[in-house]
Amino acid sequence: MSKTTGQSDLEQRTQSETLLEVRNLKKYYGGDGFFADAPVKAVNDVSFQIKEGETFGLVGESGSGKSTLGRTLIQLETATEGEILFDGTDVTSLSGSELKEWRRNAQMVFQDPESSLNDRMTVGEIIQEPLDAHGWETKQERRQRVVELLSQVGLRKEHYFRYPHQFSGGQRQRVGIARALALEPEFVVLDEPVSALDVSVQAKIITLLEDLQDEFDLTYLFIAHDLSVIRHICDRVAVMYLGKIMELGETEELYNDPENPYTQSLLSAIPRPDPTASRERIMLPGTPPSPRDPPKGCQFATRCPAKIRPPEYEHLDSEVWDAIERFREVIRERSRIELGTSDRVRRRLGLFSRYDDIEEAYEDLFRQLDLPNDVNEPLQTAVEQVKDGRPRDARQHLHNTFGSVCDNERPEFHTVSETGRQSYCHRHMSEYEDVEPVLARRIDEE
Ligand code: ADP
Ligand code: MG
Repeated sequence: MSKTTGQSDLEQRTQSETLLEVRNLKKYYGGDGFFADAPVKAVNDVSFQIKEGETFGLVGESGSGKSTLGRTLIQLETATEGEILFDGTDVTSLSGSELKEWRRNAQMVFQDPESSLNDRMTVGEIIQEPLDAHGWETKQERRQRVVELLSQVGLRKEHYFRYPHQFSGGQRQRVGIARALALEPEFVVLDEPVSALDVSVQAKIITLLEDLQDEFDLTYLFIAHDLSVIRHICDRVAVMYLGKIMELGETEELYNDPENPYTQSLLSAIPRPDPTASRERIMLPGTPPSPRDPPKGCQFATRCPAKIRPPEYEHLDSEVWDAIERFREVIRERSRIELGTSDRVRRRLGLFSRYDDIEEAYEDLFRQLDLPNDVNEPLQTAVEQVKDGRPRDARQHLHNTFGSVCDNERPEFHTVSETGRQSYCHRHMSEYEDVEPVLARRIDEE
């Protein structure tokens, strides 16, 4: 867990070998079958590399696709599309005995040590299970190995015959770690390994993970929603939103000077040790879109406080602009209702009246505002379309009128620092660089 302590350290890591290379990976759930709903795009085209011996962090709000990505990397889930090169071999194409053999290399520690351990097995049996499954050495050597593992994770020999429920949360997580290490993997996915533990226990487990990494040359993917844990333990970090990586780079650098508007807003929510060095907290408006129906352009476009506006609306009052964005969200929700087959059937049967409150929504959002004609007319058209039972047309109409590059085009990954940090945002393009970020809805304005 070499943190950036000096140039030599950094150089060493830059030169180190790539262990895992992910190329355009997608993992969708459902969506097959003629009448099925749109698939959940849990991981939606991500590419990155993990270097040998590093701790690679993955942060993002709940539901952003972190666990799915972790599970897919170690083939607990089948990728929908893309490649996962592990030491140069694409593991998505392995099957049968090849896959089984490879699995030894890549293990997982789960968030909840409560439910991830089988309560009907003794601790010894739980740790030994993967050894048995792989027919590792002789029975006696397997038992010997378990005793060794118990001691490596700070448990005692006599714990062998106890059951998980006799243990504390921290001890159970030690068992989970011992089990993951049984087959001497190179790569371990740690999925929120300390999120369910008391703070004092968290520190001990983290120290254990760091020690084990040094001792056994492990490479970690460390998943967390807690940004401060990641900062402490990770060499590099990727920030995920709605199935995509928004920013990726050296941990300290990314924390000190985030380039992506999503990272900026995520980090602005962490309480700072020195309150006088105040950074305004950015409150994100609205709710995250459904992963069944992610925005067509940038994933973050519907909530981005730094969204680029179309040139003809650049000078619009930001309150009006905000209200337009919220109204578009309301209509998006209405049109999403249409996506479900059962709802379509219900509408045909005349059981559907969820479109009637659109005028109310319009009133709520715009009553107090002074709307120019070129804003109000398209809004009125959209209201009529929704009342007419055509929310998708309304959505499209507003998209055509108020949509900008952020709504229309997927951003590229831009290299934004000398150390190779990458950020997924249109604002890094020279033509948009000078557009003043809005960063609306700071908490101290409310
Ligand atoms: P995170 O770990 O960041 O909280 P997840 O990877 O668990 O996110 O979930 C990402 C998205 O995929 C969520 O919308 C979740 O509901 C969905 N999802 C996860 N697992 C499944 C599954 N087995 N079937 C259908 N949808 C799933
Ligand atoms: Mg998760």
